[in-house]
Amino acid sequence: MKQIAIDGPAGAGKSTIAKQLSKDLGYVYIDTGAMYRTIALYCLKKEADLDDEELISALCSEAEIDIRYLDGVQHMFLGEEDVSEAIRTEQVSQAASAVSKYPKVRTRLVEMQRELAKQYDVVMDGRDIGTHVLPDASLKIYLTASVDVRAERRYKEYLAKGLPCDLKEMKKDIAERDHNDMTREHSPLRKAEDAIEVDTSNMSIPEVVSTIRELIK
Ligand code: C5P
Repeated sequence: MKQIAIDGPAGAGKSTIAKQLSKDLGYVYIDTGAMYRTIALYCLKKEADLDDEELISALCSEAEIDIRYLDGVQHMFLGEEDVSEAIRTEQVSQAASAVSKYPKVRTRLVEMQRELAKQYDVVMDGRDIGTHVLPDASLKIYLTASVDVRAERRYKEYLAKGLPCDLKEMKKDIAERDHNDMTREHSPLRKAEDAIEVDTSNMSIPEVVSTIRELIK
């Protein structure tokens, strides 16, 4: 099976690029962040204290999380509820970053991710794909952009969807999430030694896609 790993901080453009690439290549796109978000949503629904590792680990084992593909698009389910939209809030982003530091949570989701990569050719995006989940991926990309650019992109996305947002708040949230993800003990976000770094701060989406296509060749 073929594997392309795309890692990087929040808002670098991973999902947009990974979706486009998977379409071009006929691979399955796997958004691993959505899996952490789904666990986080479950914990929020249970009104759990996110600092309670034991409780979060237990909730993670009992959560009936499922990943399904409807018309080729990844959907996340909690039991029979499609939560693909509900996991896209700032509250869930922060909660995902909080629960993703616990080894029990990571082990369960990494297992699911590796299982998918056994069955399909994949473009997988996340934080630890190149360093941990798929260490033998044929291509590893580390996508970055400045905090300012990433916050602005998020801001525009929210505006376009008519969602309430505040640029300053978003910048703060992104910086905080970067810090959490890069400094946690288990599988922190970092560039794999054999990953190629692409800084997208001054690049358009088509430019990034064509750069990566060249690398695939
Ligand atoms: O990519 P996304 O912003 O949806 O990820 C949400 C959170 O899930 C990240 O901030 C990170 O804490 C966590 N995550 C992770 N490992 C991954 C993907 C996401 O720890 N492979």
